Amino acid sequence: MEYEAIIGLESHVQLKTKSKIFCSCSTKFGAEPNSQVCPVCLGLPGVLPVMNRTALEYAIKAALALNCKIAQKSIFARKNYFYPDLPKSYQISQYEQPLSSGGFVDVITGGKVERIRITRVHLEEDAGKLLHEEVKDSTLVDLNRCGVPLIEIVTEPDIRSAKGAHRFLTILKSILQYIEVSECNMEEGSLRCDANISVRLSDRQLINPSKEETGKLANWQTGKQLGVKVEVKNMNSFKAVEKALEYEMERQIKALEEGKRIIQETRLWDESKEITVAMRSKEEAHDYRYFPEPDLVPIEIDREWIERIRESLPELPEARKARFIKDYKIPDYDASILTSSRELADYYEECVKARRKSQVASRRFNKGIANWIMSELLRELKEKNMGIKECKVAPEHLAEMIALIDKGGISGKMAKEIFVEMFKTGRKASQIVEEKGLVQISDEEVLAKIVDKILKENPKVIEDYEKGKEKALGYLVGQVMKKTNGTANPRLVNKLLKKKIVFS
Ligand SMILES: [Zn+2]
Repeated sequence: MEYEAIIGLESHVQLKTKSKIFCSCSTKFGAEPNSQVCPVCLGLPGVLPVMNRTALEYAIKAALALNCKIAQKSIFARKNYFYPDLPKSYQISQYEQPLSSGGFVDVITGGKVERIRITRVHLEEDAGKLLHEEVKDSTLVDLNRCGVPLIEIVTEPDIRSAKGAHRFLTILKSILQYIEVSECNMEEGSLRCDANISVRLSDRQLINPSKEETGKLANWQTGKQLGVKVEVKNMNSFKAVEKALEYEMERQIKALEEGKRIIQETRLWDESKEITVAMRSKEEAHDYRYFPEPDLVPIEIDREWIERIRESLPELPEARKARFIKDYKIPDYDASILTSSRELADYYEECVKARRKSQVASRRFNKGIANWIMSELLRELKEKNMGIKECKVAPEHLAEMIALIDKGGISGKMAKEIFVEMFKTGRKASQIVEEKGLVQISDEEVLAKIVDKILKENPKVIEDYEKGKEKALGYLVGQVMKKTNGTANPRLVNKLLKKKIVFS
């Protein structure tokens, strides 16, 4: 049997405001526990929350970037539950009348568009954090995170595979980073994701029940309604989301094939064992006894303000990717990587602009730049744990280096060495070439002398070559390169060797 997963995601994203959503405490990550708290975020009696305008602005910005409609009027609600990381015993969130709804994200892979609908984007406050490992046999609580502004982004169950969930999260993260409303750092908890998953027979295999069968077949067999869904939590990376969903899909398929029922519940992903384990039966909305927050006025947003925010949105990643493919004639794969962050895409475009028309043909140049960024540059950055903003290689310098290679001034192999130096020092390729005497030998007379010498030393190899052993030529080229410390122009060496062997 063939199955498909029905997946919906709920992501919580911390907004990068300087202060919390309802008080002026700092939101800075990594401070001494309980050093960034006040009566408001501790939920002491008699205090009143005051809405942070920037948090609202960022939430609107995110909702617009996700193609949502902004409600003219929305309200906050109290979500009641008891947990030691929640001092008020309720979280200020939104339930009925959320800030925005009805959006979508288009995930484009290989020219195919997959539309994931966004149910809603709403504002809420974060809870504190429990620390289980600091003191043996006890749990401590850090309330610095209480009241940090969050948006919750809920998708419709439009995702059909674990890989699809990974793709969606990748694009969601890059959108939110492009519009600069969140760091989206999963390790620091500024992006967290829960998933709802059920399985059913794949589209082609769904059974259309006859009259007698109606009622005997389960939802997962007929696809008339969604099957029983399970919520999966506690995933700390996109890879973990993918693995947890793959595991969960297999678990559910196995249960269904054995004739068991799936129970609606919340399960936790255990990263070390790579399995999900039952945590509790899933709570329903009524368990939270939502009611309108009496201490905050409804949010009524001026249409003009929304339009101003809309106009301030930058070109978003998928649009930029499409433009890169069209304007710079680079492959889909390259464009995806280069537009994965706004800074990297800016860097690439600055390199492209630095091309001097007389030097290199644009298409070859654009692809050359893409190759160098994707291999050498990103590798160096990763090794040194740096971001593109801290990179010392100026875009003009990378452009100059590509032109040097193209002109035959340096070989690709030399360029790699030179690039390491550029990365370390921020100097120009031509400067390094000059100082180190790295100029490629393209002088035929000079090279001819070296070639003659090598040929004289290797009569046996020449014989092999003449007998048809192609590899023998490669060996001779290698010898010339060795003699010249890799500075000989390999194309010229090849040509000279062939010419001289014929005439010897
Ligand atoms: Zn506070």
